Amino acid sequence: RAKADGGNQYAFYVHSMSMQALDSLRMEGALRRALERDEFRLHYQPQVDIATGAVVGVEALLRWQPQLGPMVPPGDFIPIAEQTGLIVPIGDWVLATACAQQKAWRDAGLPPLTVSVNLSARQFQHRDLVELVARLVRETGCDPACLALEITETAVMENPQAAVAIFRQLNEMGVQLAIDDFGTGYSSLAYLKRFPIDSLKIDRSFVSDITHDADDAAIVHSVIALAHSMNLKVVAEGVEDARQLQFLREHGCDQMQGYYVSRPVPAAGIEELLRR
Ligand code: C2E
Ligand code: MG
Ligand code: MG
Ligand code: MG
Repeated sequence: RAKADGGNQYAFYVHSMSMQALDSLRMEGALRRALERDEFRLHYQPQVDIATGAVVGVEALLRWQPQLGPMVPPGDFIPIAEQTGLIVPIGDWVLATACAQQKAWRDAGLPPLTVSVNLSARQFQHRDLVELVARLVRETGCDPACLALEITETAVMENPQAAVAIFRQLNEMGVQLAIDDFGTGYSSLAYLKRFPIDSLKIDRSFVSDITHDADDAAIVHSVIALAHSMNLKVVAEGVEDARQLQFLREHGCDQMQGYYVSRPVPAAGIEELLRR
């Protein structure tokens, strides 16, 4: 009996594996077509200076809007884009679009906004990254000092030595650098000290419970103190209510973003928000 059951389980396993492979093949084809058909969009989420309440930046967040059907969030397609390498051309589009948008906002006379762009591990390790950023800054005329690149703690720690070298080159260009989802990986403080970075972004998972989980409150408190002791700015993500904001303000957190201020919105929504 046990053997028969095992056999069935095996058959089921093989079946579900091939279904997954098929799904990701389909998805890969769909993502290629999405690039050709220009179906990707960027939404922007405001980043607010906690002390002044001013919108000082935005984070560009990728969405896929198929011609038919609902908008697809990045969590549903970025993992496959990463596995297949499609994240490189998609990421090029994201960077180019964000740089052009930053320039357009400057030309429109909006207050200076730092535009943050997420980089996947694959893009970060790509040998052309530094050259690509330099070329996009030249071609779009955007201000490198108002461009920030976000890279997750986990992606950085895959190869911290290489990361130091890439960070140095980007830093020399005047681009800002942020470690994203800080606290979810295992950063070595020794490396953190060597990275020429500008800010740490505290992961949403810590922020969501700061007002009723003493451990999360302690973690957020310590990350803010750590960042400040290293002259880094701290940005809290996923702020959803006034009490969380109050906690962050009391603990000297520099910036915040979250649904409490605004969900990610198309570029026109940012202009509207700034006019108000
Ligand atoms: P992330 O970079 O940590 O971005 C923050 C995520 O938190 C975004 O989800 C944002 O919509 C969401 N968020 C912001 N405020 C709140 C809040 O108050 N409550 C809740 N529940 N969520 C909030 P989104 O847009 O679905 O993006 C998810 C992840 O996908 C991003 O996490 C980032 O890792 C990745 N991603 C997004 N755009 C890109 C991109 O252009 N390139 C790459 N490589 N990754 C991207
Ligand atoms: Mg991010
Ligand atoms: Mg983040
Ligand atoms: Mg996050």
